[in-house]
Amino acid sequence: MNIGIEERLGLVSFEVDKERHIKVDTGCECDKKACLYFCPANRFTLEEGKIKHDYEGCIECGSCKFSCPKGMVDFNYPRGGYGVYYKYG
Ligand code: SF4
Repeated sequence: MNIGIEERLGLVSFEVDKERHIKVDTGCECDKKACLYFCPANRFTLEEGKIKHDYEGCIECGSCKFSCPKGMVDFNYPRGGYGVYYKYG
């Protein structure tokens, strides 16, 4: 079965915290913008030349922390009781 990212994200649940667990300095001006390609949940987008990041729907893989060569992505896990819940079985 071949399903898209939105359907895949629909298989997990989130308890969204008001406090961001990932802070992104969107003032970056690098050419490569690797963060757009690292995130398996597609949480980074480019709007009018600026990086936008939506932490809701983050599956907490931590990849984005390593995507930015300039260290503009500050990844932390959400506070206890918040974040992604995976369903098994
Ligand atoms: S931790 Fe993973 S899923 Fe969450 S925003 Fe970063 S790359 Fe995307």
